[in-house]
Amino acid sequence: MNKLLIVGTVAFDAIETPFGKTDKILGGAATYIGLSASNFNNVDSAIVSVIGDDFPQEYLDMLSDRNIDLTGLETVKGGKTFFWSGKYHNDMNSRDTLDTQLNVLENFSPVVPEAYKDADVVMLGNLHPLVQLGVLEQMTKKPKLVVLDTMNFWMDCALAELKQVIAKVDVITINDEEARQLSGEYSLVKAARVIAAMGPKYVVIKKGEHGALLFHEDNVFFAPALPLEEVFDPTGAGDTFAGGFTGYIASTGNISFENMKNAIIHGSNLASFCVEKFGTERMESLSKDEVSSRLKQFKELTQFDIEL
Ligand code: AMP
Repeated sequence: MNKLLIVGTVAFDAIETPFGKTDKILGGAATYIGLSASNFNNVDSAIVSVIGDDFPQEYLDMLSDRNIDLTGLETVKGGKTFFWSGKYHNDMNSRDTLDTQLNVLENFSPVVPEAYKDADVVMLGNLHPLVQLGVLEQMTKKPKLVVLDTMNFWMDCALAELKQVIAKVDVITINDEEARQLSGEYSLVKAARVIAAMGPKYVVIKKGEHGALLFHEDNVFFAPALPLEEVFDPTGAGDTFAGGFTGYIASTGNISFENMKNAIIHGSNLASFCVEKFGTERMESLSKDEVSSRLKQFKELTQFDIEL
């Protein structure tokens, strides 16, 4: 078994899309990453995060049932769980954050479970960069691969700390607008070059329904997003992508550029399910057969037979 250590928020989300509105439902970057990575065999995964005692036991049971180790998920007595609320525009590719309440995240010191201090792959999901750094510092063995995901919120309020983490990771996954903000470049090719110079050897730029780009030195690889008839709620698609990417890398134990291309496809494949229902609902009901038959669709979508 290979080990995947996941850091990120475990949260309550309130979401509004053109198709409807939810009250507080289960969300959080680590939640989506964990659910997504649980689709791979040969991977033991664990979440490091924090919740308040307002967090329902049924959510914890659902994550445990998916074999996600929750030893590193701290519960603060009397504390309130991280809360995020967002509203999507009509095109569903952009959203406004309406509210972010850090709550228990404000004073969180992560503790990596003893059994995961030698994890093969570390996925630093979206949360405060100092927490991400704190996790890396506790690793007793150098992980094969460290992947970082972040968002504009942390660029706005903790840029210096964020740059410290970026300097220490192998792969960064970031969306197009955030890549532009971080690099100051509009062209994504130039943006990827500027971001790579900050540290990561691999830069993944997510473009929502327009797929994802993987940059490494002078190489570029592109994976489309599957054209879907219905997109209900894009929340968590980026994290689900990251969970698919790291889950696949952990399950194969192969960190070559060629294998990362496959990982990008697995990430895109899993993200295509996430957006079909509100919140985590679709990821909770996903079967192995559904995952593999959609993977075939992906192959057909991108395969052509030009002789060169
Ligand atoms: P995504 O749609 O992949 O960007 O991720 C959405 C998830 O990120 C939601 O479930 C939120 O709970 C979580 N989230 C939103 N803002 C933040 C933040 N500033 N830090 C960490 N997680 C966040």
